[in-house]
Amino acid sequence: MFKFRAMSTSIFTFLTCLVVGGHLQASALSLPSSAKSELSSPDSSQQHVVMISLDGFRHDYIELHKAKHLAKIAKEGVRAKSMTPVYPANTFPNHISLVTGLHPKNHGIVNNRFFDKSRPTKDGYAHYKMGSGQSDSTWITATPLWNLVELNGLKAATFFWPESDARIGGALPTYHFHYSKYADYQQRVDQIIQWLSMPEVSRPRFIAGYFSLTDTVGHDEGPYSERTTAAVQRVDELIGQLYERIQALDINVNLVVVSDHGMTNVDAEQVIAVSTLSIPDHFLVESEGAQVHIYAREKVSEEDIAGESSRLSSIAKGRFIVLTDKQRQERYFEKNSRTGDIVLEIAPPSRFIDTPSGHISKGGHGYLNTLDDMGATFVATGPAFKKGIMLPTFSNLEVYPAMAEVIGIDVFTPVDGELKVLSEALAEKQL
Ligand SMILES: [Zn+2]
Repeated sequence: MFKFRAMSTSIFTFLTCLVVGGHLQASALSLPSSAKSELSSPDSSQQHVVMISLDGFRHDYIELHKAKHLAKIAKEGVRAKSMTPVYPANTFPNHISLVTGLHPKNHGIVNNRFFDKSRPTKDGYAHYKMGSGQSDSTWITATPLWNLVELNGLKAATFFWPESDARIGGALPTYHFHYSKYADYQQRVDQIIQWLSMPEVSRPRFIAGYFSLTDTVGHDEGPYSERTTAAVQRVDELIGQLYERIQALDINVNLVVVSDHGMTNVDAEQVIAVSTLSIPDHFLVESEGAQVHIYAREKVSEEDIAGESSRLSSIAKGRFIVLTDKQRQERYFEKNSRTGDIVLEIAPPSRFIDTPSGHISKGGHGYLNTLDDMGATFVATGPAFKKGIMLPTFSNLEVYPAMAEVIGIDVFTPVDGELKVLSEALAEKQL
């Protein structure tokens, strides 16, 4: 009996997927006129986008660590002085904002790890941690760029962009890989070129790629170390090689290099162990280094939450802040089921660690997103971009509408990002 029920559930899921798939296809055929015309006739003005993320590549690493290839690409195309990440300046919220144009509270991934009070479990609340979307894609409540591209009737490919192997809204990019940090870097570049060399009918118009090296080393050694220079040089060589190989192709390819956030020094003398804050057991606690998210367990009263909030304020003594409603609003981090009833925020070079004997990295991020050291990188070149443009600092929420504009596809859903500063860098469309 149990077996039969399990089987009918899976058949139901399968049928639902078919219906959803059918619906999506119908939308793609009826909505975007621009995509339709490109599909029906070969078009030499077709634009491709290869967007590569270099994790933790701070906005000034090009000069600081002499990234000569990226410096050359920037000179031949567009570069931002800095790109402001969303709050908190962590990997998963920012990668998802880059490909959805939404604040974390709207795309669902509010930090690298968090609880969700609307999903009670027998011992607390359901817990998200980096990559949980692969087993439960409902954590992500938005349409990523690769799905938007496919909804417009075009193909998309991803090589390790965070959560790009999650079946979001029932869909995956046509070409994708399941994440492994051991996958060879050269293989990623080779695969991107191979995708771009496919015949037009199967060639992806949008490709997302990801390299984690600069973040890993930045945490281990801090942003100014020799090993960080070596990590920057390594990814810079790969980007240089990718650029050269792209230029040898006879199609329009735009290479866009971004990062999710910057990196700053952490002072081991100034860390605070969360265990020393004595947060009572009727709260669940998730420490993310630069924030502590505190969630009241079920049936805990608003008075108890307010009481704990003022107790934490009274013991903070300038070492950290308990975010007020106004501060949460300024950070687009208003209280919801995932952000926490109480949020503690620390400023660099301090950091939260779990226990007094916990590991302390030399470098960190996740802090207030508008701090200079949290600033990310944006460099782009290709036929859709102007040449030799230095842009002032802009929000990474502009990237999604900009990429849709470059590829020439319609955005179906409301986004938080508005194409402002980045529109100055787009070349006039050639008709
Ligand atoms: Zn990161």
